[in-house]
Amino acid sequence: MNKQKLNIILMGPPGAGKGTQSELIVKKYGIKHISTGDMFREAISNKTPVGLQAEDYITKGLLVPDAVVIALVKERLSKDDCAHGYLLDGFPRTIAQAEALEKLSIEIGRPLNKVININVDAEVLIKRIVARRVCPKCGASYNLDFKKPSKDGICDNCGTELIQRKDDTRESFSTRLEAYNQSTKPLIDFYQKKGILTNVDGLQDIDGVFAEVSSAIEGK
Ligand code: ADP
Ligand code: AMP
Repeated sequence: MNKQKLNIILMGPPGAGKGTQSELIVKKYGIKHISTGDMFREAISNKTPVGLQAEDYITKGLLVPDAVVIALVKERLSKDDCAHGYLLDGFPRTIAQAEALEKLSIEIGRPLNKVININVDAEVLIKRIVARRVCPKCGASYNLDFKKPSKDGICDNCGTELIQRKDDTRESFSTRLEAYNQSTKPLIDFYQKKGILTNVDGLQDIDGVFAEVSSAIEGK
């Protein structure tokens, strides 16, 4: 692998496996995981001004306005812990966010160099979403069908009780998928034209997807 720092975007529809693959990438490559969804959920539970602004959008499955998300990412990406590489999960989700990221990442001397897009069909996504359980403390993602925790309802990493996300309902999922198709999907073409996008088959099991993701990261 070359010595260039890994500044990566992991893309894909809701339920594609971004959080799951992020955990594995962070363990293997030691880069900083930045999930805007996790940041919003933390802000909501701490009742911060950003959390209060975002909560209603998130519960309904709508995208949080660009200005709010961009300000949040700008602050986060500039921190010292992103200096050795970062993994963006759930950002950018619109062309405006992608353009802001491009400018910002160059300004702070941490230019983006890889985009990995996980492809999964809609009927598989809904099955994964309704069976998803997450750890509210460390963000780990589990699944009642495909990735059960060792002890029922308890996070393997930190022992916290698992929860179901409020937006993991069929109703919210259909709004989220529509937002993805309308606003986020065009980013595939945006990054393809820049020549930095690799597509990965997300219908494989978790290890199979990770093998492809690793190859994409290592440029194989
Ligand atoms: P995202 O972050 O893209 O919304 P997650 O990583 O949280 O998606 O995955 C959604 C659900 O699907 C979780 O319950 C997760 O355990 C499960 N999952 C992730 N990858 C796979 C896979 N390759 N096969 C089966 N289930 C998976
Ligand atoms: P996620 O955890 O990535 O599934 O995100 C959960 C929710 O947070 C989304 O459905 C949006 O409401 C909001 N969100 C997260 N990231 C963004 C973003 N980049 N732009 C707009 N909204 C976002």
